[in-house]
Amino acid sequence: MTVNFRPAYSSVGELAPYSAGKPIEELAREMGLTRIVKLASNENALGMSPLAVEAMKRAAERVNRYPDSSAWELKGKLSERLDVGRENIVLGNGSNEILELLAQLFLTEGDETLYAWPAFVVYRLATLAHGGRGVEVPLDVHLRHDLDAMAKAMSHRTRIIYVANPNNPTGTYVGREDLERFMDSLPENVPLVLDEAYFEFAMHQSDFPDGMDFFRQGRPVVVVRTFSKAHGLAGLRVGYAVMPEPLADLINRVRQPFNVNSIAQAAAVAALEDDHFVQKSLDHNRNELGRIRDAVEKMGLTVTPSYTNFILIDLGDRSGQDVYEALMRRGIIVRSMVPYGLPHTIRVTAGLREENDIFLEALGEIIE
Ligand SMILES: *Cc1c(COP(=O)(O)O)cnc(C)c1O
Repeated sequence: MTVNFRPAYSSVGELAPYSAGKPIEELAREMGLTRIVKLASNENALGMSPLAVEAMKRAAERVNRYPDSSAWELKGKLSERLDVGRENIVLGNGSNEILELLAQLFLTEGDETLYAWPAFVVYRLATLAHGGRGVEVPLDVHLRHDLDAMAKAMSHRTRIIYVANPNNPTGTYVGREDLERFMDSLPENVPLVLDEAYFEFAMHQSDFPDGMDFFRQGRPVVVVRTFSKAHGLAGLRVGYAVMPEPLADLINRVRQPFNVNSIAQAAAVAALEDDHFVQKSLDHNRNELGRIRDAVEKMGLTVTPSYTNFILIDLGDRSGQDVYEALMRRGIIVRSMVPYGLPHTIRVTAGLREENDIFLEALGEIIE
């Protein structure tokens, strides 16, 4: 078959497809295992709010209708909660879609984006998919964003800057003062995308900067958040971003009109009402991350202090890939950090207490 497609950007050739954590069903099938523990994708161990489940059931009865394209109710709730205008909010099919739409709007062939490495791989994917070139600035020795080095790496071709705060896959964050100093050094016309997917897990740190404050100060920021992590709605795909109105207006023109489905909208509204569930998730997460850290340190390994729902474990001179595969053979899915240039580490999501115990016992055996 011959097709006449638009010539792809040469950068698309450098794209490796996003490698997601292995699905539970696939590993079970491959290994003939019945018990699988998945600690690979930073999902909420406790599930989701029962209020969200009820809302989804009710919404399911009405799926013959198209969703509300303006997401009136969800945007209203978010606008109240965040103290920002409805016109400043953009919703996405996961916050991933918003990252993608931003790249689509800002980049033409040869443009640059600026972000740390290792950081969330979607910045690289979205950049390359739209003909851009990602300028990747190594994290500092503590695996934190090196904002001074990033400021130096700015060029006249930089069109988007991404800072994941806290960062994935390291779990580290940059403090308010450092971030403010960085923003002061940036030109007005280049948006800083503050990806706060793990906001809830870090917000109680006294020097953790709330991106919404920067937005309200009128800085050129796009603050991106998600219902996938603390709210436990990863499978529904719903995220949001707050940004200056002209930009929100542009995105609302190019996005698909029904990009957030009706069940997701209903669940997100309900999830926002359930502070109790979020708090329970945060408490659980703090306890379990602490337990994992203590147990891992007893094994003589080290961890990077994490302000998220996952933790990076340094395996010393062992290969992260080998440990990842050995865990996989026992039905435990974590993330190998080889693709992120950290060959001696794995990233592990805090699961249920029993799941974490299974992981810790297996890890202890493997590294012996
Ligand atoms: C999980 C995650 C997201 C969320 O993606 P969704 O598309 O909203 O599920 C965004 N950014 C980072 C850094 C993440 O780790």
